[in-house]
Amino acid sequence: MPVYVYEHVNKPGKGCTKEIEVHQEFGSEHFSKCPKCGRKVKRIITTANFTIDHLSGTSLKEKGFSKLVRKDKGVYEVEGAPLSSHKD
Ligand SMILES: [Zn+2]
Repeated sequence: MPVYVYEHVNKPGKGCTKEIEVHQEFGSEHFSKCPKCGRKVKRIITTANFTIDHLSGTSLKEKGFSKLVRKDKGVYEVEGAPLSSHKD
């Protein structure tokens, strides 16, 4: 199921973070209000993890992509990045 990322247009309500992730059926209607606090939100990202996750890092590299791995909230790391470019 795709994950949609919404951002509170103004300040998030109590217990909400600025950005929220919502699992929704593909093609379902987007929220205009936060399901938690009811404040106004806008959709900012549709993550593509439902298509990318089953590709290996190697095949992504062949296609010219870097796979971003979510390490922590809001922190992403490039998986499979070369540690060194020395090839002497
Ligand atoms: Zn909220």
